Parts: sequence; structure tokens; C-alpha cells
Amino acid sequence: MLKATGLEKRFGTVPALVGLDLAINAGEFFALLGGSGSGKSTLLRVLAGFEAPDAGTLTLDGQDLLPVPPWARPINMMFQSYALFPHMSVADNVAYGLKRAGVVTEERRSRIAAVLDLVGLQGLEARRPQQLSGGQKQRVALARSLVMRPRLLLLDEPMAALDAGLRERTGLELRALQRKTGAAFIMVTHDQQEALALADRIAVLEAGRVAQIGPPQEVYARPTTRFVARFLGAANVLEGRMRDGVFESVEAGADIGSDLPAATVAVALRAEHIRLTNTNEAPVVTGILEDAAFRGDDWLLIIRLKGGASLRVVHPAPPPTAGSAIGLAWGAASVMPLFA
Ligand code: ADP
Ligand code: MG
Repeated sequence: MLKATGLEKRFGTVPALVGLDLAINAGEFFALLGGSGSGKSTLLRVLAGFEAPDAGTLTLDGQDLLPVPPWARPINMMFQSYALFPHMSVADNVAYGLKRAGVVTEERRSRIAAVLDLVGLQGLEARRPQQLSGGQKQRVALARSLVMRPRLLLLDEPMAALDAGLRERTGLELRALQRKTGAAFIMVTHDQQEALALADRIAVLEAGRVAQIGPPQEVYARPTTRFVARFLGAANVLEGRMRDGVFESVEAGADIGSDLPAATVAVALRAEHIRLTNTNEAPVVTGILEDAAFRGDDWLLIIRLKGGASLRVVHPAPPPTAGSAIGLAWGAASVMPLFA
């Protein structure tokens, strides 16, 4: 549906978007992940039309969107701060866009009632924003966007202002709402759990370009770069080089994996996939337990390997004493080859 190719955007000497390619399907819940300053907000502003790219193309169903002003795009943006009008009631906040678009009073009324019902704000029509909780304000902002019936809704950190306890439930409600309306949602977040849990597909942004894109399970199970492996789930990354299908890692002090692609430049291992060996099992690597932290369900161990690298390991039982020699092993399928 929406297709961006080669998007470039600089602010003075600061590159915000660097040859960014992205395609969004109709009706999908898409999450944009990335560290602070990776270009997430800039990308949303370019898609909405608040910012013109320096180069690149942007089309909707094959039609050039770049000459189309923001208000004429079937795209709506919900801002992180919600940007509600403080002096207006809930109903008037939601009505604002409809009035500007010239929707007649009767249709306006029914659309407002329907959308407030949709987001669960019935009965609060007359309240002012300051008389609402954080979660309710967020719903007003959502209602104000959805009442315009956009084909694409852009949400910049929609849960950032909510308490931790409210975020999980609100996220699930957001997805249910997305399914109901059939609009495509692009949600920006720096919270990887949120993105993995809610999205049909995710893109990880790194320095203004897409580092990897795909369904959450796929990107999590098969990160292709060091950055994505570390960013999603804080995987261990081991450096080394390929020889005859085996990854020789000096910093691990061992050869790792077999039948890995020749282009492998590093390997990633999830802390959850590494186990401590018992006495009658040959370890893949050996090291010394440096530190251990109780996490509730399990322990997180920091193990310094013979070659000098340190590995994070999730262990289900109380750990050996610090300084103990440890053997580690994992299944061959747990070794994730990285290509950049
Ligand atoms: P994110 O939303 O991922 O944190 P942004 O898209 O806001 O990142 O910013 C990307 C880069 O562009 C950052 O280095 C940021 O400082 C810079 N930038 C964004 N907007 C402006 C602006 N209006 N003027 C100058 N620099 C900007
Ligand atoms: Mg931002």
C-alpha cells in the first residue's frame, strides 16, 4: 500500500534518514523500533507530510504522495504528547478534524459517538482533558485520529506517557482497535517487548536506515546484524572468522557452530539458549563465573570465557559460587550467524 524508497533527510549536517526503504501493507500493525536519534520520528513526519524528504520517493497505491499536503493524505498522526486542545471538551477535540474537513453536523455527531464508543469513552464527552487520566487522554487522541477514518495511522510512542501497569493492557487494546478499524498502524516505540508482542511486522532502524524487517518471531530468531542481535533481546555476540564452515572465535577460546554460511562475520547466542554443562558432558566453551543476579524466575550469570569474551547466561537454578570454573553448551540451532 505505502511504499518509500531511498528516503533521505538531513538537518544541517545531521543525517536523520539515510536511503531508507520501507513498504507497509494495507491493514497491518507495523512497529518501528530503534534507539534514540535513529530517525523514527523523522520518518513518521515524512510519511504524514509534515516534513519533505531531501531525496527519495513515497507512494500510496502507486500514486506519488510527496506533492500531497498533510491534510489531504489518508494518513493521520497521533503525537506522543497527544496534543489535545486543553480548553475543549472531549467531544470538541474529536470533532475538530471533522469540522475542518467540512463534515456536516449530523454525520459528525454519529461519527463522534461511534468512535468514542469504539475507544471506550462513552459518557466522558463533556470532560476537559485535565479532568481525564493518562489512559483516557490517550484514548481521546486515538479517537481524534480514528474519527478521520485514515487508511494509515501513525503513532509516535503511543504508550510512553502511561504507567507501566497500564501499558500492556493498552497495547493489546490498541491492536484490537487496529483490527476492528482495518487501518494500517505504524507504531513507533523504543520498547522491544511492546513491538514484539503487538506487531505483525517490525523494522529495526539504525542510524536512519532499516537494519532488518520482518515478522517479530523471524527477526528475533534470525537477526542478521550485530546491532539487531544486541538490540532485540540483548543477545551475546561473539567475534571471530569462518574457516571450513566452522566459526573460529579467539575471544570465545573455541570453535563455534558447524555448517555456518561462509559470509558469517560474527555469531549471536541468546542467554536463554546457553546451559551449564554437568561433569559428564563436553562443554563447547569454558569460563569463570564472574557475577550472578537473581531475577525472580531465574538467575542471570556473567561468565568470562577462556578467550576473554563475556557471555550472559540465563540459569534456572541457584548458581555456583563466583569464581567457579564453568562449562557451557548449546544446541547447534541456537547459533545465529550474523553478516554485518
Ligand atoms: P528518533 O525519533 O528515532 O529518536 P529523530 O527522527 O527524532 O529520532 O531524529 C533523528 C536525528 O535527526 C537525530 O540526530 C536528531 O537530533 C535529528 N533531528 C530531528 N529533528 C531535527 C530538527 N528539527 N532539527 C535538527 N535536527 C533534528
Ligand atoms: Mg522520536
